Amino acid sequence: MNHTDPIDLRSDTVTRPSPGMREAMARAPVGDDQFGEDPTVNRLQEVVAGLLGKEAALWVPTGVMANQVALRVLTRPGDDVVVSRDCHAVWHESGAGAANSGVQFTEIGSGGSFTREEFLAALKPAGHALFPPTTLVQIENTHNRCGGVVFPAVEAARVCAAARERGVSSYLDGARLWNASVACGSSPAELAGPFDLVSVAFSKGLGAPGGAMLAGRSEVIHRAVRYRRMLGGAMRQVGIFAAAGLYGLEHNLPGLAADHDKARRFARRLAASRRITVDPSRVQTNIVFFDLAADAPDAPAVVAKAREQGVLAVAFGSRTIRAVTHLDVTSEQCERAAEVIVRIAESPAA
Ligand SMILES: *Cc1c(COP(=O)(O)O)cnc(C)c1O
Repeated sequence: MNHTDPIDLRSDTVTRPSPGMREAMARAPVGDDQFGEDPTVNRLQEVVAGLLGKEAALWVPTGVMANQVALRVLTRPGDDVVVSRDCHAVWHESGAGAANSGVQFTEIGSGGSFTREEFLAALKPAGHALFPPTTLVQIENTHNRCGGVVFPAVEAARVCAAARERGVSSYLDGARLWNASVACGSSPAELAGPFDLVSVAFSKGLGAPGGAMLAGRSEVIHRAVRYRRMLGGAMRQVGIFAAAGLYGLEHNLPGLAADHDKARRFARRLAASRRITVDPSRVQTNIVFFDLAADAPDAPAVVAKAREQGVLAVAFGSRTIRAVTHLDVTSEQCERAAEVIVRIAESPAA
C-alpha cells in the first residue's frame, strides 16, 4: 500500500494481491475447468481436500456460493436449517437460502456458538404432520457478527454426532476457518472432521482476490458440481484465481497469528477510553466489535469522521462499530487507527 491509502479496517476482504501473488497468477498453467483440465485448480482442490481431511474439494467463486451450493446439496425446499444466531447465511446473503433452496432458518445459541442440547431442543423431526423437517445443522467458524469467535471444537463434534444419529446433515461455513485454526491451535482437518461438508475462502485472511472451496465426501462433491453450474458458478481458466489461493496458503497462512495480535492491540487501545466498551480478552481472531457510550457521537458519526482522518471501519448498529485486521495493515497502523477513533469518540457529541 502507498502512504496516501487510508487505514482500511472495514474487512479482511479489502487486501490487494501482492506482487508475488500476482506473479504466481500470471505464471499459472490453466485449462478449461469445465473439462476438468485446469491443472492449477485441480491442484488447489487436492491441496485443500488434504488440508481439510476430506475426499474431495470443489472450487466455487465466492463463499456465498459455497453456502448456496451446500444448501442445494443437503436440503429440500421446505426444510428447516438450524444455524447459529446472527450467522452470515441469515444476515449477509440477501435472502439467498430462501430464494435458491426454499429453506427456513432457525437461529439458536448466543455469542457465536450453541450446544448439542440447544440443537436438539430446536430440531424438528421428519415425518411430523406439522413440523418442517430439520435436515441440516450449520456452524459458522469463526463467527463474523459475533466478533470472529471460535466455535468450541468439542461442542461442534457433539452437535455433528447428534445430527448424524438423527439423519441430519452438518455443514461448516468456514469462510474464516484458517483464522479459527490458528487461534485455537487445532488443525483445519480437526476442525472440519465432524462435518459432512465444509467451506473455506481464499479472499479473506489469505489475501487472494477471490475464490472459495467446498470439501467433503466424493459423492457429495459430485452432486455439488451440478448446483455450482445451476447457480452460474462454473468457470473456465480459473487456475489464475486458484494460483492466488495456493500462494495465499503457502505464504499468508502463517501471518494470521499476526493479524490476531494486531486486533488485540487495537482493542486494548480502544478499551482505555471510558467512552468505548470492548473486552480485549474476547478478541480471539482478527475481528473487533466495540460499542460507543451514550455520551459519545454515534457509530455513523464516528465512522464518517474517522474516514475524513484516513481510517475506515463499518457501523454495525447505532452505537456499534466493526474493525477487521488483515495483511495490508501494520500493527502501527492499527494502533494509529485506534488513536483516531478514541479521539473522535471523546469529542463532544454533535
Ligand atoms: C465472508 C463470508 C462468507 C462469504 O462471503 P463472500 O464475500 O461471498 O466470499 C460466508 N460466510 C462467512 C461467515 C463470511 O464471513
